[in-house]
Parts: sequence; C-alpha cells; structure tokens
Amino acid sequence: MKSTVNEVRDSNHYDVIILGSGMSGSQMGAILGRQGFRVLIVEEATHPRFTIGESSIPETSLMNRIIADRYGVPEIQDITSFYSTFKKVSSSTGIKRNFGFVFHKPNEEHNPTHFTQCVIPELPWGPESHFYRQDVDAYLMHAAIRYGCTVKQKTTIKDYDLSKTGVAVTTTQGERYTGRYMIDCGGPRAPLALKFGLREEPCRYRTHSRTLYTHMVGVKPFDDIFKPKGQRWRWHEGTLHHMFHGGWLWVIPFNNHPRATNGLVSVGLQLDPRVHPKTDISAQQEFDEFLARFPTIAAQFKDARPVRDWVKSDRLQYSSKTTVGDRYCLMLHAAGFIDPLFSRGLENTSVAIHALAARLIKALRDDDFSPERFEYIDRLQQKLLEHNDDFVSCCYTAFSDFELWDAFHRLWAVGTMLGQFRLIQAHARFKEDRNEAHLDHLDDNPPHLGYLCADMDDYCRLFDSAKAEVDAVSEKRKSPKEAAARIHELIEKEEFARPLFSFGYCITGANRHLNNSKYSLVPALRLLNWTQRGAPPEVQKYFDYNPMFSLLKSYVGHRLELALK
Ligand SMILES: Cc1cc2nc3c(=O)[nH]c(=O)nc-3n(C[C@H](O)[C@H](O)[C@H](O)COP(=O)(O)OP(=O)(O)OC[C@H]3O[C@@H](n4cnc5c(N)ncnc54)[C@H](O)[C@@H]3O)c2cc1C
Repeated sequence: MKSTVNEVRDSNHYDVIILGSGMSGSQMGAILGRQGFRVLIVEEATHPRFTIGESSIPETSLMNRIIADRYGVPEIQDITSFYSTFKKVSSSTGIKRNFGFVFHKPNEEHNPTHFTQCVIPELPWGPESHFYRQDVDAYLMHAAIRYGCTVKQKTTIKDYDLSKTGVAVTTTQGERYTGRYMIDCGGPRAPLALKFGLREEPCRYRTHSRTLYTHMVGVKPFDDIFKPKGQRWRWHEGTLHHMFHGGWLWVIPFNNHPRATNGLVSVGLQLDPRVHPKTDISAQQEFDEFLARFPTIAAQFKDARPVRDWVKSDRLQYSSKTTVGDRYCLMLHAAGFIDPLFSRGLENTSVAIHALAARLIKALRDDDFSPERFEYIDRLQQKLLEHNDDFVSCCYTAFSDFELWDAFHRLWAVGTMLGQFRLIQAHARFKEDRNEAHLDHLDDNPPHLGYLCADMDDYCRLFDSAKAEVDAVSEKRKSPKEAAARIHELIEKEEFARPLFSFGYCITGANRHLNNSKYSLVPALRLLNWTQRGAPPEVQKYFDYNPMFSLLKSYVGHRLELALK
C-alpha cells in the first residue's frame, strides 16, 4: 500500500486518511501535507460549524508554537496568542488575560474574599484567546488545504476497512479511498472507537459531570456586579469560572476588548449528576432554576438570552480501552474526555499531535507501522486523561469549600508554570540549533507521564500528597479545613513551589498580600531573576539557556511580525 512519487495525484490512494476536520484533524493534516504526504480529510459536517472548546491556555499556545516551528506551519503559530488570532484568524476572537475563579454558596450573596485569579503573563507572547471555534476551525482546515490535503466535507463514511496491510473507507456515495494509516479525529462520536467497540462501559474516570451550554447576548461583565480590590485584570477580560458545591459555570466572553466585533458570550454549566441529577426539564428552565439559587451570578445574567439552542448532555466523561491499533490512532478527544475545567482539552490534544506527528512521519518514511512504534501514543494519551481526571475530580471535591479550593488549586498554578518552563526550554534549545532531539526529548518516556510537569519528581510527589488530602476529604476522613491547612503546609515547605506565589501571577482574595504588580515587566523580571539566582536546582535545570535573550527575541520577533503583517 506504499504510495510512491509516481503515483497519480488524483488517485483515491492516500498516505493518511483523517476522519474529522476539527482543530486536531486539520492541524494533523496541515503538518503531514507540509511534509509532502498525501492526506485525505473526511468531514461529516461543513465549515463554518458550531463547536465547543473555546478557551486557550498558555501550554496550548506553547505546544502549538513548537509544532508550527518544527513542521513549518505558520498558520498554527497564528492561533498562539490573542494578538495574532485576532489579527490573522478572526476578529470574533475574545481576549483571555486571566483565569478567574469565584466561589459561591447557594442562597447567599457572594463573599468578596472568596475568589482566586491567575494572570496570563503579557510578556513575551501576550494574552490567550477565546476562540470563536467556527472561524478558527475553518481557518485551520484551509491551511490543511493549502498544504495539499484533499478535504471532503459533508461526507459520510459507510464502511471502514482496517488491516495490518492498509486502510480504506467507503462513503455513502459509494466512493472508496485507501490509505496507509488512519487517524480518528472525530471527537466524542469517534467512528473507529465505535466500530472497534473501544469505549469502556462504564467509563473508568472518577469525575462525574454533565453540561448545558450555549452562546448568549446580554451577559453583564461580572466586574459590574462584583469589584474586588487588588486584581490586575477585570474578570470580563478572562475566562470566568463560578464555582459552587457540585459544579461550576464557565463564562467566556468574545465581546471583551475595545476592538471586539463579536457580541456573544459562551456560557456552560457543569453539574455533577450525583449532586444535581439530570431531569426532563428544558436546559433553559434548569439554568433559570440554577440562577435562582445563586443571587450574585443571577445578577450577571439578568438581561441575558441565548442566541442558539442549548446543548444539554448526559455524563461528559468517556474513556477508551486503547487509543491505537493496527494502522490507526484515536486522537485525544476521540479517545476520552474529562471536563472543561482548566481548558486542558486543546492543550492535551496538541501534546498528542506533537508526539504522533513525529512517530507517524517516521513510520510513513520507513513504511513500517508496527504497533511498537505507536505504543507510546497510547500510554501518553491515557496518562494525560487520567491525570486530568485526578485533578478535576479533586477540584469537584474542593468546590464545596473555598479554603480547600484556595489550597488545592495552587497545585494547578505551580504545575502549569513548571510545565511551561519545560516547554519553553525545549523550544529555546530547538531554536538555537534546529535539532529535533530537543523536542523529541519531551516524549522520551518522562517519569511522570501525564502530569503537568512530567519530568519533575518533586512536583509530582507534592501533587500526590495534596491529592491524598483531598481524597481524605471526599472519603470523610478529614475536614476540608484540616486538608487545606495540610496542603498549605506542604507547599510552604517546597522551595520550588512557595516562591512562585510571590510574583503576582496567582492572586487569592483570602490573602491579599499575594496580590499583583500593576506592571507586566516587573513580575516577569522578578521571576526570571529567581529562576537564575534563587531557585533550587530542580527549577534551574529548565533555564540552562539564555532565557533573557531568548524571551526578548521572541517578544520582539512576535510584535514585529504582527506590525509588519
Ligand atoms: C463542553 C466542553 C467544553 C470544552 N471547553 C474547552 C475549552 O475551553 N478549552 C479547551 O482547550 N478544550 C475544551 N474542550 C475540549 C475541546 O472541545 C476538544 O479538545 C477539541 O474540540 C478537540 O478537537 P478535535 O478536532 O479533536 O475534535 P472536535 O472539535 O470534536 O472535532 C471533531 C470533528 O469530527 C467530525 N466528525 C465526527 N464524526 C465524524 C465521522 N464519523 N466522519 C467524519 N467526520 C466526523 C465532526 O463533525 C467535527 O468536525 C471542551 C469540551 C467540551 C465537551
């Protein structure tokens, strides 16, 4: 089944057949097309089409910057900061300068000290984005086309044929396409997962949540209702999470900056069905009843109305026994899902794309698709999902008590910063000598696969200890207060963790002295200074390049490129 350079361009034989043209299918297609492979992308729907997964995080952008640079796909670079996404991809993009977490108790006004906010550094790449997915997905699909992919939209596959020697699909129109490898980027309805009976019943994850979501107009900026002092950025300029016992609500504005052309706000309510069982009432009625219990949130939605039908789901979590097989792979979102909390879906997807692309390109060149070559992808995807599950399920426990949330969410804040250091270092080294080994090293079986910082023993040990505290709360062996105090104690002891709260990137209403500097440069320089001088060796190991020079170069390069284009 190997295709040769002599093979006719318009034959029905491809190197890779990709099912689904969401962000992962199109990114994968663009990468492979750019490397000269023949790629067919089959999409059931047509672009532009509504989809969910709108909030980006710094790790998503760092990973996509690596992918774009490594494989020469600048269109993927375009979605890696708000400034470039707004300018090059879609003026419907919202800005994300912070993650805001506001804690609520039913039938009570919000306590003004019960919040945390994590700031997205302005330097060097600028804020993250609220992706208006219909535009971003269409943009990436056109990039895939630009690099030679054949895209068949509004095409339904009737038969899938996979064997050790090749793959084939037949459409309902009777067309048959063959290939050397197949990637299922179909998301929750992943056709290969369904065909091979790969879904686990029941799903093995600890998290239990269901969702209701829509786009709305008339949602007030939360800052108009609740104005705590000492915050750097307005709630409205970020992804806002309202937390309460048994769930949380996302508010993702697209209309939150002066040049906004999109008046919509994305709204999604996650509920643990064990606490808030699903009933037959309509989503709107359920949302209204929810608002009636939370007066401060209700004030934000007083004049809001949906502009499209609500989506109301059953349990969101699904898992797969395996994510790779003979000549096929399920992309992360096709393999499993936990919960939108912390917006890790796209980040974990880009981690999986990076790892799969490197292996698949080699396999295509060698014409060798033996399962051992892809075994790591299965382990990686399973571990990413499992660790996310650990995090999120602990958070659902912590949603019941602000002190516990304030303590436990610091594990996320520390892990995400360390994880970013690791990615920035790998990319900086790659930029110095273009040696792909620096990037392959990210997937060189790190000891704590799936953790936010997969190669740092001390962080993973700290996480496990904190998780044990939260587990003790959910099993009623400890009170939330005791567990929170113990988690604070654990963090205080760690030289690699404690100082990270003094640079102003992580703010908590309960402890105002951690609050933020008014300027972007000051915290950035203080953090850099710490990584060079004060930090323990386990942090300094991520800074064995010249970070000041490298980050300055990135900043100037990024701003110059935007200005020139
Ligand atoms: C409620 C919710 C909120 C989320 N919020 C966030 C967030 O804020 N941030 C974040 O990072 N992630 C979020 N995620 C996760 C995010 O949605 C996914 O990580 C992301 O969409 C994955 O992209 P994808 O291209 O793999 O899949 P999808 O975006 O699901 O795309 C799948 C594509 O495959 C097509 N398709 C399906 N079946 C077939 C078939 N049989 N044949 C052909 N085509 C097919 C579909 O039409 C679709 O175009 C959220 C997920 C959910 C469920």
